[in-house]
Amino acid sequence: MEVPFFRVALENNEIDAVVSVLRSGWLTTGSKADEFEKAFAAALGGNVGAVAVNSATAGLHLALEALGIGPGDEVICPTLTFTATAEVIRYLGADVVLVDIDPVSRNIGINAIRDAITPATRAIMPVHFGGLSCNMDAIIELASEYDLKVIEDAAHAYPSTYKGKPIGTLGTDATVFSFYANKTMTTGEGGMLVSSNSALLDRARTMRTHGIDRDAFSRFIDHNSPWRYDIVAPGFKYNMTDIAAALGLTQLFRAQAMRESRERLARRYDAELAKLPLFLPPSAGDKDVHSWHLYSICVSPDSPLERDALISKLRHDGIGTSVHYIPLHAMSYWRDRYNLAGEKFPHASAYADNAISLPLFPDMTDSEQTHVIDRINYHLGKGKDC
Ligand SMILES: *Cc1c(COP(=O)(O)O)cnc(C)c1O
Repeated sequence: MEVPFFRVALENNEIDAVVSVLRSGWLTTGSKADEFEKAFAAALGGNVGAVAVNSATAGLHLALEALGIGPGDEVICPTLTFTATAEVIRYLGADVVLVDIDPVSRNIGINAIRDAITPATRAIMPVHFGGLSCNMDAIIELASEYDLKVIEDAAHAYPSTYKGKPIGTLGTDATVFSFYANKTMTTGEGGMLVSSNSALLDRARTMRTHGIDRDAFSRFIDHNSPWRYDIVAPGFKYNMTDIAAALGLTQLFRAQAMRESRERLARRYDAELAKLPLFLPPSAGDKDVHSWHLYSICVSPDSPLERDALISKLRHDGIGTSVHYIPLHAMSYWRDRYNLAGEKFPHASAYADNAISLPLFPDMTDSEQTHVIDRINYHLGKGKDC
């Protein structure tokens, strides 16, 4: 049996929604993107606005740009993340300060942030790793103590909550979600920048389309708006198409149901892998929602197989896995630019040397999951071959 690491499964109404945009005569940013932004902000239920973009990377870049991050500034982010979190800081000529994780939550370490703050620090970019919320009270408190901006990389975290509030509504400067193909909801490629700061949202909207003061849709479709437009900055090309937004609207509609499916699968992994020499991923507290974007286990020192060997065995069994992540401090660009050594990041290093992300996607079948569970039990020597 083949079990992929991830499989996208679109329903017929989702495909129909895209086809109807293709037939509509308007493909790029227009009424669907507008509708998606409003529906997304409404789904968060908070007092926020949303700007649809063509990737979370774009959204993070726009957020930092709108906050005025630039050369001479330092921005703190965890080493255990995807490179997109950090690269956008470099786009603006600012410097990245990578810090270690908390070994239990696998999220950015609070003491590590405190130790990394200098007079040049301008912002913190926490990442809700795998969909488990960071300790946001502590981060927001540190930010207010040192007058720092907070931009949440919520690429994994729709729909997660922190102390009962949806991620995106915590009152930080900006939160950015990803709709990349294998994220918790998808538009193929896409992202959403969310904030309660209307000046930030306006700036992001302008910079999203070349620094034009009005978007193409209002110029061409709304006959009451003047034809003349101005360029107010050298902006970017980060707008979301209506094709993508149509898919986003339908995915948003079933995002909670997809999350419940992933949670059910995560609970079964928890139960069936509990006795093995593994560290299982932490759950959210009773009152909180975990998006379960990732289910990442860690092979423990008393395991009969090391991580790489277990990945090879599972691959041989037809099971796709992944590693989230090789930490940024171990990647040549980041390591060489900032002269980083693994010893500076003991928790992220220990985690990343032993981590494996298991298949987890909403339409994973029981028999697919049984195959994964059986093979891991077999290889780690506590079960029988099935
Ligand atoms: C996927 C991801 C991103 C980037 O998302 P895109 O939509 O692909 O640009 C950023 N940060 C993290 C942690 C991610 O996993």
